[in-house]
Amino acid sequence: MKITKIESRIYGHDMPKMGYSQAWFTRRSCHLVRVETDEGLVGVGECFGAGNVALGNKAIVEQVIQPLLLGEDPIARQYLWHKVYNALRDHGQKGMPLQAQSAVDIALWDIAGQATGLPLVKLLGGPCRDDVTVYGYGMMLREEEDLESSFAEEAAAIAEMGFKCTKMKIGMGPKKDVKLIQAVRNAIPDEMGLGVDANHAYVFKDAMYVGAAMDEMEIDWFEEPVANEDHQGYRDLCQSLKTPVSGGEAEFTRWGFRDLIENRCVDIVQPEVCGLGGITEYLNVLALAHTHFIPCMNHCWGSDVSVAMTLHLLCAQQDLPGGLFPQTPMLEFDSTVSHFRDEILEEPLDIFGQVKRQDGKAKPPMRPGLGVTVNWDAAERYRVA
Ligand SMILES: [Mg+2]
Repeated sequence: MKITKIESRIYGHDMPKMGYSQAWFTRRSCHLVRVETDEGLVGVGECFGAGNVALGNKAIVEQVIQPLLLGEDPIARQYLWHKVYNALRDHGQKGMPLQAQSAVDIALWDIAGQATGLPLVKLLGGPCRDDVTVYGYGMMLREEEDLESSFAEEAAAIAEMGFKCTKMKIGMGPKKDVKLIQAVRNAIPDEMGLGVDANHAYVFKDAMYVGAAMDEMEIDWFEEPVANEDHQGYRDLCQSLKTPVSGGEAEFTRWGFRDLIENRCVDIVQPEVCGLGGITEYLNVLALAHTHFIPCMNHCWGSDVSVAMTLHLLCAQQDLPGGLFPQTPMLEFDSTVSHFRDEILEEPLDIFGQVKRQDGKAKPPMRPGLGVTVNWDAAERYRVA
């Protein structure tokens, strides 16, 4: 089998204005990559990076990576990963080249699954579990007078949908954030999990202030408290707070994660597979994390393609450390407006329905590869590039 074409397609639609600590946005985008072969198999991957970043990634996929891979055997994923990485090493060991490479690598795994007739979870040696708990995140920042009440209402609605855990955004200033967290904690059942995501809004001292308040509120994790580059800050927070500190969605490759993990900068690592280098490289990062007994709870943002892939990867992940009642990784799931959740696959994953019917849990689609069929014609109405 040979690779004959690699094509990137970017989609977008308007949405109500919302944000996280770094930006407001009014558009949702989705970047899918198709790898075609001479035997008719077509693999699909997803590329992390919204808006104009997606346009840059498209150029890297089609104009830089595609020429390196045309005519190659798509099954040789290790060889191809290193061929691309080595060719681009001098031009970017983090960031967009890795995001672009991630989508191509994921599509190659989709092809390998289709070629062998195996769902990704089985291709990886699983399943280690048949389903995973889903945490439905919402509570994006909004320009509203009474955000505390509005966050509390939204959190209660997420609980009502059957989610056993949720996550909120913060980053509006330490004092305001503590009030927001308290409002959400009070609005949901005591047994419901709650993560808090600052998207690296803080310097160490402010993160300590917010984290110390979280220690009194039974918060399950404090996500990206400080800038990704501030390893010492991360490490000091891990040592000082009772609340687990998580991070890693802005890190790339095994070499980037090596420094985070070996220095025990995170209590929970959150790799973004559509950005860090794809599934091939994620397996290295997972091994590194588990070698150091650090739980791995994948970051997941994007369309149903990324959600399906993440479900397979989480169900293929071994227990850490193992036992009758192991702590298991959860699926991150964006509960805010997205047409790419319901309209892009021929058979949508229906995570909301699964959560409702399956006690807060979801299963991967057990068809070969990622187990998804993109409806390329239906997607066309959202095409921007
Ligand atoms: Mg995050």
